[in-house]
Amino acid sequence: MPGQKELSDTLRGKGRHRAATGDGGLLFSLTPGATVISPDRQHSLTFDREGRLHLYFRRGATYKRGLASDLHLRFRDHGRQRRQLSPEEAGSIFAEAYQQAREIASRVDGELEARLSEEVLRWTPESLAAERQRFLSCYRPIAILPPDQYLSIVLQATQGCSWNRCTFCNFYMDRPFRPKSTVEFRQHTEGVKDLLGEGVKLRRGIFLADGNALALSLNRLEPMISIAKEIFPERSLVGFVDLFSGERHPVAHWRRLGQLGLKRVYVGMETGLDELLGLVNKPGSAAELSAFVGDLKRASLSVCLIVIVGLGGREYRSEHSRASLEVLDSLPLDETDLIYLSPLVLQPGTTDYRSRQGDTPLTPMTEDEIEVELQQMATRIRGLGVKTSRYDIREFIY
Ligand code: SF4
Repeated sequence: MPGQKELSDTLRGKGRHRAATGDGGLLFSLTPGATVISPDRQHSLTFDREGRLHLYFRRGATYKRGLASDLHLRFRDHGRQRRQLSPEEAGSIFAEAYQQAREIASRVDGELEARLSEEVLRWTPESLAAERQRFLSCYRPIAILPPDQYLSIVLQATQGCSWNRCTFCNFYMDRPFRPKSTVEFRQHTEGVKDLLGEGVKLRRGIFLADGNALALSLNRLEPMISIAKEIFPERSLVGFVDLFSGERHPVAHWRRLGQLGLKRVYVGMETGLDELLGLVNKPGSAAELSAFVGDLKRASLSVCLIVIVGLGGREYRSEHSRASLEVLDSLPLDETDLIYLSPLVLQPGTTDYRSRQGDTPLTPMTEDEIEVELQQMATRIRGLGVKTSRYDIREFIY
């Protein structure tokens, strides 16, 4: 079936998975979380259980719709390409996808026909685009998630990042850091439940956002987690924290959070080179990271560290890689942990850290150089017995 990776990502862990050959080579899969139809080898469509388009694979291009009805296109043309579609372009793709669903519904029966007519064909391109307003009524735009969390239920316990001053990062420049009150968090969580509807069946665990939600005190986090678990029972929890916030929690707090359902903590390590951390204005050090990861592992939590490939340009290329691998090798990581390698993308609005060098500006690495470096680091990390994967912030959509 085309788009097999996306389909298996969608369906993994969702129980019943039935594929059958139907009319004219039609393949379909009906699971508790999704309806997947593939009219031919060049097309496949995935809908959530509300009937909203989730993925559309068309002749080698993958369109992924976010909850706000943004549509992200990914394809290959001399390497990986991606872009966000305009609302007009998205509308025409929605129309095409639903037209395909309509044609298929007219020639099938049984559960597939029931799902298409009762769930999918309730939607029009216009009503789908209008989901944006419902999304914005309960969320501030979600700036970023780790790639393995794109199918999480995101709950914004905080807004923004408590630091917000790393020179390469613009994720939360549009909002000051603010924890939500318990009352506000309950309203938000109920709003998210309403927005997801039956689409919640496609979702996995809970991601506590924004950038530094796990920096909140245990006294603030406990009632929020209990609300999250009351409204979305039986879901595990994960979230971001930065080193300089996370290290303020004693290990007993991390253990308690583990008892409450926290499984994994995502930490922006960026580099193992202290000098480079200083250059990009990020607090912390390799020694502090080592102590912090030790605490998380003593609390039996899984750890995911994010390293930015290309940080520091050509001048720091080998030092950044050497120091990062050295630090990773020294950490008590195991098979539950993950290292993300994220190609540096200088976003609009970020400070160009190269200008901090005065007379000796740094030379940015090309995309090709970053790719080579990323592959080399990945090989070395796998050699340490730790899982690693790519984290391209340009491919994020929620
Ligand atoms: S990289 Fe992390 S700590 Fe730094 S500004 Fe961005 S969200 Fe905040």
